[in-house]
Amino acid sequence: MIMRPAFFVILLFVGLAWSCQSAKSTGMKPTTSKEREILKKIKALAEFPLTTDVSKLSDNEKSVIPYLIKASQLMDSIFWIESYGDRQELMSHIASPVIREYADMNYGPWDRMDGDKPFVEGVGPKPKGANFYPHDMTKEEFEKADLPGKDGLYTLVRRDDKGKLITVPYHVAFKKYVEKAADYLRKAAEITGDTVFAGYLRARADALLTDNYRPSDMLWMDMKNNHLDIVIGPVETYEDRLFGYKAAHEAYVLVKDMDWSERLKKYIAYLPELQRSLPVDEAYKREKPGMRSDLNAYDAVYYAGEANTGGKTIAINLPNDETVQLKKGSRRLQLKNVMKAKFDKILVPIAGLIIDPSQRKHVKFDAFFANTMFHEVAHGLGIKNTINGKGPVRTALKEHYSAIEEGKADILGLYMVSELLKKGVLKGDMKDYMTTFMASIFRSIRFGAHEAHGMANLIRFNYFKEQHAFERNPDGTYRVNYENFDKAMRNLSGLILKLQGDGDYAGVQKLVDRYGHIGKDLQDALNRIQAEGIPVDIRFKQGEAVLFPDAKSK
Ligand SMILES: [Zn+2]
Repeated sequence: MIMRPAFFVILLFVGLAWSCQSAKSTGMKPTTSKEREILKKIKALAEFPLTTDVSKLSDNEKSVIPYLIKASQLMDSIFWIESYGDRQELMSHIASPVIREYADMNYGPWDRMDGDKPFVEGVGPKPKGANFYPHDMTKEEFEKADLPGKDGLYTLVRRDDKGKLITVPYHVAFKKYVEKAADYLRKAAEITGDTVFAGYLRARADALLTDNYRPSDMLWMDMKNNHLDIVIGPVETYEDRLFGYKAAHEAYVLVKDMDWSERLKKYIAYLPELQRSLPVDEAYKREKPGMRSDLNAYDAVYYAGEANTGGKTIAINLPNDETVQLKKGSRRLQLKNVMKAKFDKILVPIAGLIIDPSQRKHVKFDAFFANTMFHEVAHGLGIKNTINGKGPVRTALKEHYSAIEEGKADILGLYMVSELLKKGVLKGDMKDYMTTFMASIFRSIRFGAHEAHGMANLIRFNYFKEQHAFERNPDGTYRVNYENFDKAMRNLSGLILKLQGDGDYAGVQKLVDRYGHIGKDLQDALNRIQAEGIPVDIRFKQGEAVLFPDAKSK
């Protein structure tokens, strides 16, 4: 599953231009009001080049990556068909280069930033089933149809000559694309020196040609020491808004951050000790902490297809196949350079507006990244089952569970940081972690309380305010009171752990009622962020030429 914050899903922001192009039209002069409007939408997304430290890549890896990117670009082509249909045909009707570029960013003529409204003249509303089903098919017709495998992940639904519904397997419908993609993956397998990675690449090539993805998912979970990685194929089902049955093609080309991945292992080893030290009664910390089976940091060097739409994902959790999950667990991939993009383009400008000038120096990427990583690890701390026979915390807290669990991970992540700093296991200044944490609250609240992360941040903001963890200056900036911040962190940790352990639904409801609202001061801060035009999300400049600018173009 893609960890795409729901607020981005709500706003449906989108990024990136076709292939390896950057936004060409941002330097263009719009001539019509429509162009002006579209150009404004493009510019609301900050451009960021997808790169990694290429000095850490071997010559061999430098020659493997271009094949992985080429295979990924075929996922772009397939996703166009799944999302809309014939790209060429659509483009032939659009004269404006600005609007053409926007169509490429949206993989079609509907504005993912604005509720899928059509922005190309003569185009009607987007079909709910995108192009996975015949556009004239009703839900009822589909449900009544005697069509084995119609709800399969890897088939298109079409009509035969007589108008009867049929299924067409992806590997048949997209034959010319998946054959090319498989060739590229096999080429990469041939030249990589990593035999385990090569095995996965070959299995994935086979999967693209047969639609049997399980064997390659199994091999992917077995891969532990690879420096390069690729997620490729039909993965998520968000694009099918009719039924959510059909998986859309996408790809991520990834370079693992070996240092961070190594460090994470070390921190995870401290979980049992940290569990015992949690600031809550003994009864609430008897469970063994859950260790994520596989958690690593990566730089993404290419996003393609469905992955490249909407708010850009900073974390991936795969595989989705539950059979593979049961046998092999799952892997969480944290995308470090994309987090850096959001840090640079969104969090730093927010801090520059909202954090007390004397404390802005404490807003640092390393702290932002560590807080995010420890959030993930901290999901394993605390309690999964109530201590009073109310069953799993998840069922006891019902619709509030997600917000409380996300709030727990945020606050215990920071708690882990403070404990590991004390032990000397982690380096740095706690002020960096706290100030960065504070600035992040505004970034997360910005998109509303409708969503678990937004609500968690809102509750924390108001709770911390009450505990004087920060002060609002007369000029509207916020100053962190580090001592109180530490106390508030401990108090809120204890409170959340207790609510979870007691399965106290009424208590959580009270917490939400008391703290889950945006007060005047906070609204004022959010308005200033809005007025400043701080980007809502990012779009990528990506591809071989971005990654290896010095290489001669072939
Ligand atoms: Zn989380």
